[in-house]
Amino acid sequence: NRVDNPYVGAKQYVNPDWAAKANAEPGGSRIANQPTAVWMDRIAAINGTPGARGLASHLDEAVRQAAGSPLTIQVVIYNLPGRDCAALASNGELKPTEIDRYKTEYIDPIAAILARPAYASLRIVTVVEIDSLPNLITNVTPRPTQTPQCDVMKANGNYVTGVGYALAKLGAVPNTYNYIDIGHHGWLGWDDNFGPSAELLFQAANASGSTKANVHGFVANTANYGILTEPNFSIDESINGTPVRQSKWVDWNRYTGELPYAQAFRQRAVQAGFDANVGMLIDTSRNGWGGTARPSGPGPRTSVDAYVDGGRLDRRIHLGNWCNQAGAGIGERPKAAPAAGVDAYVWIKPPGESDGASEEIPNNEGKGFDRMCDPTYTGNARNGNSMSGSLGNAPLAGHWFPAQLQELMRNAYPAL
Ligand code: BGC
Repeated sequence: NRVDNPYVGAKQYVNPDWAAKANAEPGGSRIANQPTAVWMDRIAAINGTPGARGLASHLDEAVRQAAGSPLTIQVVIYNLPGRDCAALASNGELKPTEIDRYKTEYIDPIAAILARPAYASLRIVTVVEIDSLPNLITNVTPRPTQTPQCDVMKANGNYVTGVGYALAKLGAVPNTYNYIDIGHHGWLGWDDNFGPSAELLFQAANASGSTKANVHGFVANTANYGILTEPNFSIDESINGTPVRQSKWVDWNRYTGELPYAQAFRQRAVQAGFDANVGMLIDTSRNGWGGTARPSGPGPRTSVDAYVDGGRLDRRIHLGNWCNQAGAGIGERPKAAPAAGVDAYVWIKPPGESDGASEEIPNNEGKGFDRMCDPTYTGNARNGNSMSGSLGNAPLAGHWFPAQLQELMRNAYPAL
């Protein structure tokens, strides 16, 4: 009884916990009524943590908000063993070997709650395990971007096993819609990464007793900052004989935005074996890049770098920067069926929630200190040894960061 696109003809769930925080900030009421995803970012989140209600409580509230009409609620599944192996800010609570705890203490209880008859009328979108499988392509030996933790996760197979298990268990609930994470164009948009990622996802979709029937689609740009489309230059242009792809910013990437990336990934996934009707989601919560620094047109044609850097909407120092980016703004509001092959623009990362602490903060959430969140950091191989571009005074990943929310609202595009 699944529909083709769960966002069409449905209201969307507004998380009251996030809405209350947004509403309490100056100007926050302009966005507080938008649907954002609910993150199950650790085992304790299932029953609720201080300030964040548990899963059943969200679903009860979703049934209330639905008031008898179709309603879509978005739940992020994010707790793999050895989670987020190339970044420390969102390392999780489960150690690389703790796949059994992932199954029995995390996925099984979530699946049991989602399957309750009281929730049968909801359309439950599950965003499955962001920031994990792509690491097994890009951040492993012999790549210069390799990390020891990603080598461990590739060798032990627990990302593939875990994603397969999650897809199978969640997919067994008739009103869930599994969308698997595909990173973003600034991660997998290079030829070396693109096809191999689609093939790896297909392998995971068929692991642990799952089949491709458990995959409704894919989600791009979760918690990232990549723009939807770049109007000021195109991948096929050349400046004084030098292709745009050769510019420092593009660096041979095949895409200049999340929309063409997602549409192309969809086709590549079908080629890898996924169903022809899979749909894409794109997280637009923080990819607006509006405000006073937004270029009004293409850059000068004096050199390919002047042209690309002068025109590009994405003002990051490097495309590989990912933590609390200075200058970012809220992007397109959540919207159903905005473009061919795209089920929805969605707000998966709730605006105002930090990507990671800008300095070491002791905690019991398993979160480390990643220097990509430190504005004084000069970078590593994964961001071209560039400055991190992150905001200072940032709290732990997932914690409320009012100064960032203000900046995101100020630079919203379309403006609020
Ligand atoms: C954090 C999670 C949080 C999520 C949404 C992630 O970076 O690790 O704890 O729930 O962001 O803000």
